[in-house]
Amino acid sequence: MIQKIRLFGDEVLRKTAEPISPEDPKAAQVVQDLIDTLGANEEFALAAPQIGHSYRIFIINPIWIEDAEKRYPMIFINPELLEFEGDQFVPEGCLSIPEIYEKVKRAQSVKLRAQDLSGAWKKYSGKELFARAVQHENDHLDGILFIDKISPIRRRLLHGKLKIMASTTKNGVNVG
Ligand SMILES: [Zn+2]
Repeated sequence: MIQKIRLFGDEVLRKTAEPISPEDPKAAQVVQDLIDTLGANEEFALAAPQIGHSYRIFIINPIWIEDAEKRYPMIFINPELLEFEGDQFVPEGCLSIPEIYEKVKRAQSVKLRAQDLSGAWKKYSGKELFARAVQHENDHLDGILFIDKISPIRRRLLHGKLKIMASTTKNGVNVG
């Protein structure tokens, strides 16, 4: 089912998400909700806390990644980032923080492992957009948002906007 995207100010975005057994029926349900919600938003990647589930799961739509297996979607359960290489510094956005795009320093390429819904561990590696998505989504599982990683000057400039966004979210008004 398509779920409401949790917005900046929602406490679930700041929690450390729990590991989940892929055999737990809840895992399949969270994955399906992520797929439905990602598709509805025509977005690139989505983490479980962004739809209110504090579990270590994210998905990536590989259609936009040139050298990826053309399979929709890529499912990462209990992901573990293993290796980082190089740097990239490009603008990022987040469905949970609408209309804000800021440059974030990330590793240029990553290697990780994660479980799929069968419980099998699979290894992945990728660079550029894929590597950014993995780092951004994995941060969501630790309660970290991309605005935590921008320069202090940029963060100061956004302070007012973010404060308003957070208070609006808390009042239950849909700002996105
Ligand atoms: Zn995000």
